[in-house]
Formats: sequence, structure tokens, C-alpha cells
Amino acid sequence: MDPADFLAVDDLLTEDERDVRDTVRAFAQAELAPHIAEWYDAATLPDDLAGRLAKLGLFGMHLQGYGCAGTSATAYGVACRELEAVDSGLRSFVSVQGSLAMYAIHRWGTDAHKDEWLPRMAAGEAIGCFGLTEPDAGSDPGSMRTRARRDGDDWVLNGSKMWITNGTLAHVAVVWAQAEDGPSTGSGQRIRGFVVPTDTPGFTATKIQRKLSMRASVTAELSLDDVRLPADAVFPDVTGLKGPLSVLNEARFGILWGAVGAARACYQEALDYTLGRSQFGRPIAGFQLSQRKLADMVVAVNQASLTAVHLGRLKDAGTLEPAQVSFGKYANVRAAIEVARSARTMLGGAGITLDHGVMRHMNNLETVLTYEGTEEMHLLSVGAAVTGINAFR
Ligand code: FAD
Repeated sequence: MDPADFLAVDDLLTEDERDVRDTVRAFAQAELAPHIAEWYDAATLPDDLAGRLAKLGLFGMHLQGYGCAGTSATAYGVACRELEAVDSGLRSFVSVQGSLAMYAIHRWGTDAHKDEWLPRMAAGEAIGCFGLTEPDAGSDPGSMRTRARRDGDDWVLNGSKMWITNGTLAHVAVVWAQAEDGPSTGSGQRIRGFVVPTDTPGFTATKIQRKLSMRASVTAELSLDDVRLPADAVFPDVTGLKGPLSVLNEARFGILWGAVGAARACYQEALDYTLGRSQFGRPIAGFQLSQRKLADMVVAVNQASLTAVHLGRLKDAGTLEPAQVSFGKYANVRAAIEVARSARTMLGGAGITLDHGVMRHMNNLETVLTYEGTEEMHLLSVGAAVTGINAFR
């Protein structure tokens, strides 16, 4: 019995999906894990990271065409799991590039947008970011203030975006704004998406400093000051929150898989540490209270893993509903953060340093709990699905 895969959940994967697991795991453990504490401490990522991740085919890997790998959604999830077993920031880098920026362009962009950006993004030569959240519009993106007005044929964007992953690294930003000439049939109906090259005059990105979570990930504030774009910069066929929410749904799928990786890494570290350290003349792992914690972790990790595989199969069958993604994101991230906190206690004082991964994972998971829909938003989404009553407002 494999302590890291107690229920043999990976037996449910196809051979191709297991190949992805083995390849990404070997890369992540050999090339990323030895350096992650240093990157986290310095709040930086190496410049060549994008190229190395692209070489493995990880950017937009479940998208078809344009140099993307075209794998199953489940294979993409497995890759997220193996990256996040090292650090949530590394998985975020891949999620934002592939699921938020590339997917948005792939799903809603024109042929010209796709031809211009997707091959370079798949190759890691162009980095993308996704600007939805604003200083005063987080859980309620329909209240966003960023505006796109018409000036002749051009669009002119003004506003600011907050907490934007990869913001200062990006060559292209997918920016959501209230557009002046969209249909105005109700709140949020006029939101439209724009493809914004980040070298457009008036676009600035400022790195957010002093984060205590997701330090191995760049987070930025975007400022749009009379950013002038051509008429065809807009996504032509989507208005309202449907645009950004359809994209977020993709990325949340990667998160529910990634959380399994973070949880598994914390559990594994707690197991190894408590088997190796003795107090009162015996390994800490031998005490009943320790075994309860370890057994709870095994249950949590394996239940989360089963949830991820099942939702992967639904996604690959084309039947996965947004509320089911909310179920997965809520359940798996909640499970992962509880595992990380429990693992931290098992390492005692050693657990608070960067010499071990548990507190780094725990801190990262505070962001994972919050971004792409907070825990509360996903609970409300499940609540609305089962009761038919929307309690958001
Ligand atoms: P708020 O919306 O102000 O929420 C604060 C609290 O109030 C939460 O607990 C929330 O659940 C609760 N709350 C709000 N409304 C209700 C309600 N109706 N019922 C019950 N509780 C409620 N955004 C992007 O667009 N692109 C990115 O790349 C991106 N990357 C991020 C990276 C990091 C490191 C972080 C921290 C955030 C990132 N975000 C990004 C933003 C993220 O999605 C938001 O932080 C999140 O949506 C929550 O918004 P908020 O922070 O404004 O919190």
C-alpha cells in the first residue's frame, strides 16, 4: 500500500495521464523543489521558468491547436497537482497563463487574437495575465468600475485592477471592463473582455510587496490610464459576467486538483518527520494522537483526490457544471488547508521555518482559499444549486 496514494486513486488514471504525472513530478521534484524555499524567501521566480514549463507542454496543455498539447482535462489536473505539491505559486503561474489568459483568448478571442498570442504563449515566449478583480470589486465583479469608452473606432480603457497574478511579467492582459456600447439590459450585462498588449501607452503594472502568502508568485496592481485600443481588441461574442465566469471555471478546475498536491506534500512531510523524530524514547508517529492526525490526513488527501479524478472525468465528458466545480474547489482547498495546519503542528517548532514545506503550503493555501472565488462564494454557489435560491445578495 502506497502511503501517498492510500486508495490507489491513480489506478483510475489512463496510461497517458500517468505519463503526465510521472513527467511533471520528476521535473517538479528535481528542478523546482530544491529551490522553492529560496524563491519563496526572496519573493521571486527565475527568469527562465516560463521557458522550462513551456518545454514540458504545460501552458494551455488541455487546449487544442496553436502549439498546445491538447491533453485531457484530467491530465491537465494531474499536472497542476504535481506542480502544487511543490508550491501553489508555481501552479498559479501555469493556471493563469493557460486557464485564465490563454483559455480566455482561445474561447472568446478572434482568429487574429488567437494567431497573434496563443502560439507564443504556449511556447512561453509571451506571458499573459487576467484582470478582473478591482480594489472595490472582488467577490462582486459586476460592480467593477473600469470603463471602456468608444472614441471613433477605438476603445479607451480607464480604471485599475488589483491582485493580478503575473501582472508585471505579462506581455498581454485580458482585461474586463464595463463597455459603453454593449447591451444594457441589466446589472453586469455590459461587461466585455479586451486583449491588451501591456506595452500599450497608459498601461502600468506595479508589483504588490510584503505578501505573506504566494511569495513564489508575482501579484500586481494594474493601472489603465487612457489605454487606447483598436476596435478589434474586444472579444466580439460575449458580454456580461458570463465571459469572465466561464474562464474562471476553467482555472478553478486546476485549483481543485492543485490543492490535492499541496495536501499530499504536507501529509507526506508530516509522516516522514514523525517517523524520524523521537520523543519520550519512541518515534512521534507511534503515539495515538499522532496517528489520529495522520489517519485524518490520509482520509482528507484521498477523498480530495477521488473528487478531483471524478470531476476530471465529468469535465472530459463535457458534463461538468459550475456548481460542481464550486463543490470541488471548496471541498479540496478546505481539506488541504486543514491538512497543512495539522501537519504544521506535527513538525513542532521546525514546522514554522522554510526548511520544511508545511507552513509555506499553509500560507499559500490562504490565498487559494480566497482567489478565484472565496470559500464563501463557492458555498453560496452550491447552496444556490441545491435550493434554487440565490443568497449572494
Ligand atoms: P471581498 O470580496 O472583499 O471579500 C472579503 C470577505 O467577504 C470574503 O471572506 C468573502 O467571502 C466575504 N463576502 C463577500 N461577499 C459575501 C457574501 N455575499 N456573502 C458572504 N460573504 C461574503 N484576481 C484577478 O482578477 N486575477 C488574478 O490573477 C488574481 N490573482 C490573485 C492572486 C492573489 C495572491 C490574491 C490574494 C488574489 C488574486 N485575485 C486575482 C483576486 C481574488 O480573486 C480576490 O481576492 C477574491 O475574489 C476576493 O475578493 P476580495 O479580495 O476583494 O475580497
